Amino acid sequence: MGAVSTGTGLLKADLVILSVGVRPNVDIARESGILLGPTGAIAVNDQTETNINDIYAVGDCAENVNLITGRTVWYPMGSTANKTGRVAGVNLAGAEAGDTMKGVLGTSVLKLFDLNIAKTGLSERDARALGYNVETVIVPAPDRAHYYPGSRTIVTKLIVDRDSRRVLGGQIFGEGVVDKPIDILVTAISFGATVDQLARLDLAYAPPFSTALSTTAVAANVMMNKLAGKFTGVGPLDLKEKMDAGAMLVDVRIDKEYFVRNIPGSINIPLRRLAERVDELDREREIILVCKVGLRAYLALLKLKGLGFKKVSILDGGITAYPFETE
Ligand SMILES: Cc1cc2nc3c(=O)[nH]c(=O)nc-3n(C[C@H](O)[C@H](O)[C@H](O)COP(=O)(O)OP(=O)(O)OC[C@H]3O[C@@H](n4cnc5c(N)ncnc54)[C@H](O)[C@@H]3O)c2cc1C
Repeated sequence: MGAVSTGTGLLKADLVILSVGVRPNVDIARESGILLGPTGAIAVNDQTETNINDIYAVGDCAENVNLITGRTVWYPMGSTANKTGRVAGVNLAGAEAGDTMKGVLGTSVLKLFDLNIAKTGLSERDARALGYNVETVIVPAPDRAHYYPGSRTIVTKLIVDRDSRRVLGGQIFGEGVVDKPIDILVTAISFGATVDQLARLDLAYAPPFSTALSTTAVAANVMMNKLAGKFTGVGPLDLKEKMDAGAMLVDVRIDKEYFVRNIPGSINIPLRRLAERVDELDREREIILVCKVGLRAYLALLKLKGLGFKKVSILDGGITAYPFETE
């Protein structure tokens, strides 16, 4: 691959990714008087039956219900197609009780070269649009004991409803294992778990498989601390706006780490030297602390609060989850 010839000229490229999306194939249904729903796919009840008796629709051509919101959605997934196919099969075969499909979470997982990416439930944007009182955390952590060969960092974003403390969604990415933690979140969300219940699940642990506190438990614990008001987080998407408004970004990692990679506009005051260099900080400005994953930033926050600083927060996910350009 050297270049792509387009209507407006030649574009140099090493790789071309075509993303055309998908649409439900509903022509036959439409022509047969089968009702389509608001998503454009075929409307079905919880037994996967259409508006016409004994005509069932499943898979990519049919709608689903979101398990959390109860709203009609269209998630064209092979996982959903198989589950709805079984429900329809049971019902078509005349099961007396009738099998039902309560809903789906839009769970998906994919591999993009070395990167594994997974999601389930509501995104932060969806949850806010639906009126939930949303709180989020972004937590990098190793997928198994850090000293065990093959250990890789994964980043978990957890989305929770502040009022009910229910887990609404999660997104996980990294080079490590993401399907297990996303399936833990799927199970928790499906049974209406709160973040507190998620934190206390008795999950399997041995060094080749996990950390003693799994990544989902670590994310849940960070969320519980945030909900308890122990710290305030700033999301990476909001950082620039905050800095433009005058916030100081203070990186508390050691100088060697800072030298390798840092966020433009930040200053470096290693955690150990924070107390002696505190005069370099402006008490009138908001101070946002950043480290590799968030732990040292949290310790620095406690230290600064102890020294009387009022406006201190932490960059969610540290520099590990920071998605923009660094120096
Ligand atoms: C590249 C790719 C990767 C994917 N990866 C994943 C994944 O990793 N995980 C996941 O969950 N989902 C994945 N999906 C989605 C998944 O494949 C679909 O959700 C699933 O196949 C839908 O099943 P279905 O039976 O509804 O439709 P299909 O599998 O599309 O089957 C429909 C069949 O009907 C036939 N057909 C259409 N019109 C007519 C007609 N008029 N008469 C007779 N036959 C007809 C078609 O030829 C086809 O064989 C992927 C999809 C693609 C394209």
